[in-house]
Amino acid sequence: MSSVKNSQVEPQANKSYLPFEIISKDRVTQARAGIFQTDHGTVETPIFMPVGTHGVVKALTPAELEENGAQIILGNTYHLYLRPGLEVIQKGGGLHRLAAWSKPILTDSGGFQVFSLSHLGKISDEKIIFRSHIDGAELALSPEISMDIQNVLGADIVMAFDECTSFPCSYSEAQAALRRTHIWERRSREYFERLQPLYGHRQYLFGIIQGSIYPDLRAESVRVLTALDFSGYAIGGLAVGEPKEQMFTTLAQTAPLLPEKKPRYLMGVGKPEDILRAIALGMDMFDCVLPTRNARNGTLFTWQGRIVLKQAQYRLDFAPPDPNCSCYTCRNFSRAYLRHLFMNGDITGLRLNTVHNIHFFLELVKVARQQIVQGQYDTWLRNFLKKYPVEADHADENQLRRAERRRKHIAENDVGNN
Ligand SMILES: [Zn+2]
Repeated sequence: MSSVKNSQVEPQANKSYLPFEIISKDRVTQARAGIFQTDHGTVETPIFMPVGTHGVVKALTPAELEENGAQIILGNTYHLYLRPGLEVIQKGGGLHRLAAWSKPILTDSGGFQVFSLSHLGKISDEKIIFRSHIDGAELALSPEISMDIQNVLGADIVMAFDECTSFPCSYSEAQAALRRTHIWERRSREYFERLQPLYGHRQYLFGIIQGSIYPDLRAESVRVLTALDFSGYAIGGLAVGEPKEQMFTTLAQTAPLLPEKKPRYLMGVGKPEDILRAIALGMDMFDCVLPTRNARNGTLFTWQGRIVLKQAQYRLDFAPPDPNCSCYTCRNFSRAYLRHLFMNGDITGLRLNTVHNIHFFLELVKVARQQIVQGQYDTWLRNFLKKYPVEADHADENQLRRAERRRKHIAENDVGNN
């Protein structure tokens, strides 16, 4: 299973479009069931993509990912560029071979992490200069560099380079970021088309709609970017600290403007209830660190709601985490045992929790897809939300502080239209 499929495609520049088909549409909501085809296999949508930040979905082997239904995983350009770096990845035969993952991979553009993690230097329309958060080395990212990195990573789906706004974001800030995003995505598109895939399989490019929470900017972004004719469209700049209902309002305004016949990806979302509500608004693809990160924090997602293992109520609870789950963890272990492992900080416990959470998220979108096909998504969603009530969550304080620092830095270092 570790071998990378070598397609019979003649080496050629990145000019083809991702084949995507809508199989079924819900009658009440905007939900769609679809399928897309890559050289590493097909992906049935709606789909959740486990996040492999450093080229591994933390705590899981590729065999465990496959067993639990993963069809496509995500890798982070910024992290992989810094460590292990492009030389190791290219000499290792690309990310698929290096990580022994034979199914599709999507990589992000690096833009979000460079703004949120690195120490930013000079920012211009040409490029971003930054210092690595690991060793302080001075590096640059631009649309062309991002496309080159993702070419070396060998992702099946490559994301255009954008400027992701944080929250809160004033109208004029969002407008300035959007102007630059459009320049960068156009350059991403033009440069990507001239690149040759390195490992014998095709690569496809998605654009990213920005515009913060402003409907006219979102609409403008859709107009500009759909004219560039990408293989699919992501909605970025949401789930960055804005109130939950603000996110859904923006999503409800933006999703219907996107081309019907291309896959739609909501970046960085999220919680089970948010994924399902976004599916109802017509979104097809999702990624989030939530199932893996929360597994390591001792939180399990089940069809009955969340389980927080450190709570004393599970000390003598010998039921499986989820009686309706068929994963390895639920087939073999009790809540009491998983709680014991968690309280001891045991590494096997973290792996067992991760197996269950990944299984649950993939089962969630699989069942959602079946419900769409059977024409009862709306009813099913309403029942599900009884177990996962929509939380009135508040913007994360840390996120707000980071946004403030970033805004100040950009105001001081942005060299404008150079
Ligand atoms: Zn399970």
